[in-house]
Amino acid sequence: MQRIVVMLVLLASCAIPEWVQSKLSTHWEELTAADFRSAISQSKGTCLLPFGILEKHGPHMPLGTDLLDVRYAALHAAEKEYAVVFPEYYFGQIFEARHEPGTVAYSAHLQLELLQETTDEMARNGCKKIIIVNGHGGNENLLPFFAQTQLEKPHDYVVYVLPVLEAPPGGPPKKSSGPDMHAGESETSKMLIARPDLVHMDRANQESGADQSRLKLPDDLYTAIWWYARFPNHYSGEGGAATKKRGEFEMSHWEDAIVEAIRAVKADQESLQLQNEFFEKARHPLDTQP
Ligand SMILES: [Zn+2]
Repeated sequence: MQRIVVMLVLLASCAIPEWVQSKLSTHWEELTAADFRSAISQSKGTCLLPFGILEKHGPHMPLGTDLLDVRYAALHAAEKEYAVVFPEYYFGQIFEARHEPGTVAYSAHLQLELLQETTDEMARNGCKKIIIVNGHGGNENLLPFFAQTQLEKPHDYVVYVLPVLEAPPGGPPKKSSGPDMHAGESETSKMLIARPDLVHMDRANQESGADQSRLKLPDDLYTAIWWYARFPNHYSGEGGAATKKRGEFEMSHWEDAIVEAIRAVKADQESLQLQNEFFEKARHPLDTQP
């Protein structure tokens, strides 16, 4: 009888998936190889690639602000809706801050190649749905371009991009007016949530984050030096106006948006199917009928 009970207990423990027995980490680098297999299954192949940068953030915040903020939001979102989160990634577009200390600006071709090899390797390991969560304004042209180039040749996975989000209306009123694009009230408020220990509020007014409007060009005409022309200190807005309350409001909106994206991507059965159909047709376009 005792032997039968022992056998039953053993059988039952084999049948329970590993992730039910102990909670799986959302961090790719914290999982064992065996747990990684369970994590891919639990996440339905949905993985996050939070994308930061290393660049000056006004006189008062750390170089890794975008990386720290985006990882805070992504990791909290993945706790609410499980997804595997790729380790620290900061190999993006930041040529416009090369004149400031601590900026790491990889060449354009390397940015694209490294990102492609990263998503290829994620997919080879089961991440068939990859959400790049962008935390850095300077990546806003790079990432849609990268996503679009996924149609260049067949892939067995889908890349989704969640851009930097505008703060929603409402919440604790903002104290500053005018541009608030970099290290200003909004971003500083979020850092007061993610890493308050790294924010030097007493230094926020040591430099000007005002718009210097040094180009006289039509709004629709783009040129690369526009940012430096407006914000040569690599600071836009008033960091000193930041509050924890505003940070809570904006950060929780960001987390909610990531949770919504993870759920939508898990449910998405169409994108990969349509990609496959498209790649097949692209092999012999003359056969394509309306
Ligand atoms: Zn930033």
